[in-house]
Amino acid sequence: NVEAIQREKPWVTVGTIGHVDHGKTTLTSAITKVLEAEGLAQYQTYDRIDSTIEEKRRGITINAASVNYQSKLRNYAHVDCPGHADYIKNMISGTVQMDGTILVVAATDSVMPQTKEHVILAKQIGVEDLVVYINKTDTVDDDEITQLVELEVRELLDIHGFDSDKIPFVAGSALYALNDKDPVKGRDSIINLVEMLDKHVRLPTRIVDKPFFFNVEKAITVKGRGTVAVGSLERGIIEKGNEAEILGKSGKIRTVISQIQMFYKEVPKAMSGDSIGALLRGVSKDKVRRGSIIAKPGSIKLVKKADVKLYVLSKEEGGRHTPFMKGYKPVVFSRMSAVSAIVTELKGGKEMVMPGEDVELTFEFVIPLAIEEGKRFTVRDSRKTIATGVATKIYS
Ligand code: GDP
Ligand code: MG
Repeated sequence: NVEAIQREKPWVTVGTIGHVDHGKTTLTSAITKVLEAEGLAQYQTYDRIDSTIEEKRRGITINAASVNYQSKLRNYAHVDCPGHADYIKNMISGTVQMDGTILVVAATDSVMPQTKEHVILAKQIGVEDLVVYINKTDTVDDDEITQLVELEVRELLDIHGFDSDKIPFVAGSALYALNDKDPVKGRDSIINLVEMLDKHVRLPTRIVDKPFFFNVEKAITVKGRGTVAVGSLERGIIEKGNEAEILGKSGKIRTVISQIQMFYKEVPKAMSGDSIGALLRGVSKDKVRRGSIIAKPGSIKLVKKADVKLYVLSKEEGGRHTPFMKGYKPVVFSRMSAVSAIVTELKGGKEMVMPGEDVELTFEFVIPLAIEEGKRFTVRDSRKTIATGVATKIYS
């Protein structure tokens, strides 16, 4: 009974990445076909996957298909995008967050421009767990070619900060798996691939395992007690007596959480997702306000400058109608706060950035901003979202 087992298995999100026509959609379909025979999936045809669902969020349209299957150990949600632009947008905006990814490389073509671009992006957004599937081995009759392709992919991975020795490679033919031909290159390669996903893609770290922080929605003074910061705990577990740091416009202030309230009742601790009021020992109300952050000391940095990767919305997506240049000054909204930022450098010798493009640039924040590498944000100007981005490097 598939239903019964399903609930006990953890969910992991993966996706296929790689150059156009290297076989991402064929492989996605083949996985469901092979696993259906094991009672672990429902076969999804190529056409069904490719006639994708439209997803609308933050004004960006991303075409992506989400397919589910199971291994013996896990439930997988698997994302396959139809076009290169969809991958770029999805990876930058994090609309679908991948815990790990399958890099598909056709043995006939080896490393191509989009292979490279997706590998770089995977690294920048913090998707570390990769499995490589060398596809279309049915068209090469020489094993040496497959080995050569593997070498080229390993070199690409190493150049871009992955440790290729730790990355498993599976060679096969998605088409053979789909058409029940040559079980070794076909079916077996898929079974092997799924086993590698189980072994090499780590389970997502639960948000409660990370250092706590929350955004202050409001601060109130309780007579005779002190200042209470109200907000919803974004991550971690907070306990009465914990040391904490207030990060805001006036810098960092140390304090102690002397009491935690939920629904007007005192509780010993609260966890990610809870709405809380935290009584801050020895803090006057002018030191904490809406937009301040309360965090485990040292866990969050205030940053003056960051390198980022942006996807700039096209006019049709509700974005700008005109390009922008160095010196442009929009507002950056991270999950934590909002500040004005100046584009101080456009990477790759770019002079201007057109709507609909993706770009790497440097932002300098007018007020230091709490942002971390791999974290997403949106960029706004004149009350509309004009871009979505991910921080790739922070400077403190
Ligand atoms: P995507 O753009 O990466 O999603 O690539 P597709 O899955 O759409 O495949 C592109 C083309 O390659 C299609 O014509 C597929 O039938 C073909 N193809 C996919 N996998 C294989 C394979 O293992 N062997 C061969 N010979 N062709 C394949
Ligand atoms: Mg495809």
